[in-house]
Amino acid sequence: RTVYLNGDYLAEADAKVSIFDRGFIMADGVYEVTSVLDGKILEFKGHLARLARSLKELGIGNPLSDDEWLAIHRKLVELNKIDEGVIYLQVTRGNAGDRDFVYPPEDTPQTVVLFTQAKPGLADNPVAKTGIRVISVPDLRWSRRDIKTVQLLYPSMAKMEAKARGVDDAWLVEDGFVTEGTSNNVYIVKDGTIITRQLSTDILHGITRASLLRYAAEAQMQIVERPFTIEEAQAADEAFFTSASAFVLPVVEIDGVTLADGKVGPVATRLRELYIQESMKSAL
Ligand code: PLP
Repeated sequence: RTVYLNGDYLAEADAKVSIFDRGFIMADGVYEVTSVLDGKILEFKGHLARLARSLKELGIGNPLSDDEWLAIHRKLVELNKIDEGVIYLQVTRGNAGDRDFVYPPEDTPQTVVLFTQAKPGLADNPVAKTGIRVISVPDLRWSRRDIKTVQLLYPSMAKMEAKARGVDDAWLVEDGFVTEGTSNNVYIVKDGTIITRQLSTDILHGITRASLLRYAAEAQMQIVERPFTIEEAQAADEAFFTSASAFVLPVVEIDGVTLADGKVGPVATRLRELYIQESMKSAL
């Protein structure tokens, strides 16, 4: 793979970062994951807007212009011949020269890393026909989940617990209500209404979520933004999740309870088609 590091396109083995990078020592950095379909970049504007917001919330400068970000994304897609896959982007506060809780001077260059991951079958994912199974675990993350930081240890632990228990993912629960999945926003469907938690600092403001809710509203579907419990989800007609790399995928079992007849429902199926079709219209 050819990757991007601080202005250079390098073979991945040659891309090296300091051990004093704040990203490495303090998880002091933010990231984005943007998907590629048919060689085109989806939701680019949304991901760049969220990147800018995450950086601003942490007082990290945005090292590149929108045009420069786009040029790097495009070049990596081209160099790595990505037809279907994702582009990972990370910005950290940079090399602090030593370990220190105090931030380095403001003129310290940020560390910028981008790389691609080929994912053939992203659009034609067989999971869209079968759905996934999830467990619930307590949400033990910090309380600024609206900032897309690289501190992913707890979501990673939750995912490992799901795997150890023979299922695919975990839904995180706080004060009795579902916040989100380990790396996705979650939804239930009851009597045709789509229910998903409202935006706040408790969840990541998913780019896929924002677009999907817009497309669903334009298609006259009913949407309610409010928290729901695991019990309510288990009694729902359907459940699904969204993320840049999954688009829309169904959930058919929660904590060992099968939803409805255990089959993927019409709303999740329709929303997946709608999302892919509509988001491709603005792909770059
Ligand atoms: N929530 C969390 C915790 C995530 O990590 C992600 C994506 O990585 C999402 C939600 C979905 O966000 P998006 O649709 O922008 O990929």
